[in-house]
Amino acid sequence: MFPAAFDYLRAHSIEEAAAALSQHGGDARILAGGQSLIPAMRFRLARPTVLVDIGSLRDLVYLREESGFLRVGAMTTDARLERDKDVRARYALLTETSDVVADPVVRHKGTVVGSLCHNDPAGDWAAAALASRAIMVVRGPSGERDVPIDEFIVDSFTTAVQEGEIAVEVRFPTPSARTSGAYEKIERKVGDYATAAAAVQLTLADDGTIAQAGVAITALGPFAMRVTEAERLLLGQRPSEDLFRAAAEEAYRLADPNPDTRGSAEYKKNMARILVARGLARTSSKLHA
Ligand SMILES: Cc1cc2nc3c(=O)[nH]c(=O)nc-3n(C[C@H](O)[C@H](O)[C@H](O)COP(=O)(O)OP(=O)(O)OC[C@H]3O[C@@H](n4cnc5c(N)ncnc54)[C@H](O)[C@@H]3O)c2cc1C
Repeated sequence: MFPAAFDYLRAHSIEEAAAALSQHGGDARILAGGQSLIPAMRFRLARPTVLVDIGSLRDLVYLREESGFLRVGAMTTDARLERDKDVRARYALLTETSDVVADPVVRHKGTVVGSLCHNDPAGDWAAAALASRAIMVVRGPSGERDVPIDEFIVDSFTTAVQEGEIAVEVRFPTPSARTSGAYEKIERKVGDYATAAAAVQLTLADDGTIAQAGVAITALGPFAMRVTEAERLLLGQRPSEDLFRAAAEEAYRLADPNPDTRGSAEYKKNMARILVARGLARTSSKLHA
């Protein structure tokens, strides 16, 4: 299908993009990699009257570690993150996530920040961002603000980005040497959205107990969710099969999926339990290797 008619504006600076968004209000949308927005427009699920293309803003293409964070600029593609050797060496959860988002063609154009802004209930990056306690940096007419990912995710396809604002960066806390993570996803075929998925990140204290825990699930409710009860159970405990089983049970309790062509609600709920247990076990074995 063809999209409804729209005006196109190529932004030459963040300020110009923000001004265009303010001028056109709720009818204007940012175009980043276009991997979600263009299909949505073709199916007429989205009908923006103005597209503000930020694709040529080179100053939004970066991936650098600074002040305890991996800073990922808004026009940094999944493929760029996927290929980065330093990220692969140290950010286990991010690497495992980038490897399974869509397919290489989509990852070549799609951006990490664009995916977080789109906030699809089955989005992979949202779960990884929740488990790793990411922070979104949003710029608007009144300046820049940091928004923790838990507050950024508001509802299905809805984020804390307000009219006239642009998300300029996502920051992932740099993991300590005793941190690892895993992303567990089941999909019908390679390149598909998740039937169900879970993101896990654990940090061990010197005494071998769990000092920090991040557990999140996606495609298992109206938006990606942190399994806070699982995190609470894990904290201060020694990794063990029983502990992981109990934590995974909390994911089963929280999951509230819709049945669809990918599976029944009960099947998906069970997968929440299994994927979280698997993610925790794999993360723990990496930490003890
Ligand atoms: C065939 C196919 C398979 C896919 N499979 C998966 C999958 O398995 N897992 C998965 O998670 N995703 C999947 N996707 C979706 C895709 O990975 C992401 O949603 C996409 O990459 C989003 O980034 P983008 O840069 O293309 O955003 P766009 O499509 O350009 O924008 C998406 C939305 O976010 C807004 N936006 C973008 N950037 C900003 C910004 N900086 N500030 C404010 N708003 C912004 C736009 O206005 C728009 O509403 C798939 C897509 C396709 C086409």
